[in-house]
Amino acid sequence: MALLELIHQNSIRTTNNSLIRRPRRLRTTPALRAMVRETEINVEDFIYPLFVRHGTGRNEIRSMPGIYQLSVDEAVREAESAAKLGIPSVILFGIPTAKDPIGLENFSYDGIVQQAVRAIKREIPELVLITDVCLCEYTDHGHCGILNTGEHYQPGLPEGYVLNDATLDILGRVALSHAESGADIIAPSGMMDGMVAAIRTALDTNGYENLPLLSYSVKYASSLYGPFREAAQGAPKFGDRKSHQMDPGNVREALREVETDIDEGADMLMVKPALHYLDVIFRVRESFPELPLVAYNVSGEYAMIKAAAANGWLDERAVTLESLTSIKRAGADLIITYHAKEAAQWLKE
Ligand SMILES: [Zn+2]
Repeated sequence: MALLELIHQNSIRTTNNSLIRRPRRLRTTPALRAMVRETEINVEDFIYPLFVRHGTGRNEIRSMPGIYQLSVDEAVREAESAAKLGIPSVILFGIPTAKDPIGLENFSYDGIVQQAVRAIKREIPELVLITDVCLCEYTDHGHCGILNTGEHYQPGLPEGYVLNDATLDILGRVALSHAESGADIIAPSGMMDGMVAAIRTALDTNGYENLPLLSYSVKYASSLYGPFREAAQGAPKFGDRKSHQMDPGNVREALREVETDIDEGADMLMVKPALHYLDVIFRVRESFPELPLVAYNVSGEYAMIKAAAANGWLDERAVTLESLTSIKRAGADLIITYHAKEAAQWLKE
């Protein structure tokens, strides 16, 4: 008691102009804190990724507890459970039956993504279906484009280099095939120069001029994609993706990528990954406030929280919600996240 009195007297004695400002006044009660909270995440902010494969049933991905490779009927069930929680959108990634140098299943009517889009659209027409467009999950070499080898060989470029313009033609065909299946948004992720323009042209010349493009405008050559590559079975068989994805040290270059995509007709922008790149999200938001901005909270970011939580080292719920809030505070409008369903559940409670 004596100590408390001393502290009290002391605080009165030190009351002066410097203590006119007391930010703690607004933190006194939960109600006050809620009234002045600047950033809040909502279930409408989430986009939930789904991995679809041929066959039946579901396989949990070892490095991503709670996330599965899903057969088409299981993908419908999973999409339904996300929609029931209020999640407005899912993004689809496909695992083909067979792989080849250009990834033929990627633009086939019976491709796994095409089947899943038709099935989900039939059951849950209001759910916004985004389809990822790249080559890496479909090619036998696991790269995001046609390689500089064999019949495509171009002298002057390294053997095995991902050829840009030859790849654009395939991306257009994949996007068109997704559009014909009923996709609501096409999301090119391959970081090829000119990919947005090529896909825009392919869609517009076939009557899909109203189909929006969400470009993975700023995608880094990050080490945080490891668990995704297990999930989508799309790891490169050799080399890496540094000749097309961005160097993690660069941010001015990110603004150039975004500006290029806007010029080519992108309707929405993306920064990937999210948590290690909050400054990039912020810079893109500040420089291009007119377009919706999506951040991809990637598999490695998910896996780190899950692993720490499994060891009892972090409070999973608190850390997850804090991470998602920080991504939105940095400037993202929407977040692609594997946490979508659990976060939606927690936000309800
Ligand atoms: Zn790719």
